Amino acid sequence: MYIKRGIIKELGKSLRRLSSAKRVAIITDKNLSRIYGAQVLNVLNSAGFETDVIAIEPGEKSKTLATLADVFEGLVKSRITRRDIIIALGGGVVGDLGGFAASSFLRGMPYVQVPTSLIAQVDSSIGGKVAVDLPQGKNLVGSFYHPEAVFIDPDFLDTLDAREFSNGMAEVIKYGCIKDRQLFEELTGFDKNELLNNIETIIFKCLSIKKKFVEEDETDQGARMMLNFGHTLGHAIEKYYHYAKYSHGEAVAVGMYRVTKNSEDMGLTEPGTSQRLKEVLSKYGLPYEMPAGNAAEIVEVIAMDKKNKGDSIDIVLLNSIGDGFIKNINKDEIPRFFL
Ligand code: ADP
Ligand code: ZN
Repeated sequence: MYIKRGIIKELGKSLRRLSSAKRVAIITDKNLSRIYGAQVLNVLNSAGFETDVIAIEPGEKSKTLATLADVFEGLVKSRITRRDIIIALGGGVVGDLGGFAASSFLRGMPYVQVPTSLIAQVDSSIGGKVAVDLPQGKNLVGSFYHPEAVFIDPDFLDTLDAREFSNGMAEVIKYGCIKDRQLFEELTGFDKNELLNNIETIIFKCLSIKKKFVEEDETDQGARMMLNFGHTLGHAIEKYYHYAKYSHGEAVAVGMYRVTKNSEDMGLTEPGTSQRLKEVLSKYGLPYEMPAGNAAEIVEVIAMDKKNKGDSIDIVLLNSIGDGFIKNINKDEIPRFFL
């Protein structure tokens, strides 16, 4: 994991150290190819690589088998071999789809992640989960496949729109909540400039926390659960609105606040925690209230989730800011915690 402003300018040299590749296939989306395509090609060509760009349509609707087939076709045309390398340059969609393409093309190609959105830089670019969606659900076809390296250049964030920035901030706040009180305090105190001036450290803190949980639990059997703070309800909200109304971060923000407010009222969380969380979410342009009117139906989605088999589910609560814990609750307690 390399985190540094301007690191993209060294991408060619860095790849040379990692790989004896002749060719590089860059999987990206059309937004990023328009903004950064020429710069990235220039850096790679100057380091002597032959390059091809495979640009998909931007957005989650591209995380399909059909787009994957197009990407494979592009990879065949590029004539890359297993001694060459793939770059996934983009947000979470490109990272997931590009990583999955790399995991299966020619039975597995070396690849590097260059995450460009905040959520990809602080969260989704590490951990090795790569996938595409099926019409029946998200991430239903995928694998665990790690990149050779992750190059994180915070300068990419300059062109990210405000809603996408907030989307990533929800995960940053999550990391503060579950494991890093000092990070949470900083987020509370920073103004926008201070936030950006400290973004390298913030990204490093988030990825270090994620790395620790992932290394304990690479295939998602237990310890990784802590990373799901806010996500049990968050996923239900996203799903209820067919992934159209709420961004992932917005849904997780509501999920973090609601479960913390309820657990605080039950005496399981230090008093004042939900108030502090609410303030920090608002500050970074995130919602915290459940959508009025649909709350009961949304909470029913949690129990219906196929992942939640059996009579009980594990959920993540906070003892206090910076100190998350996992609690197993009976399914009939779901409304008490989430409604
Ligand atoms: P995620 O939010 O999980 O990263 P996407 O990969 O769909 O999901 O990225 C969200 C949107 O932000 C896409 O339209 C993508 O093209 C755009 N995007 C990603 N990174 C940047 C960036 N650095 N500058 C401008 N737009 C970006
Ligand atoms: Zn998430």
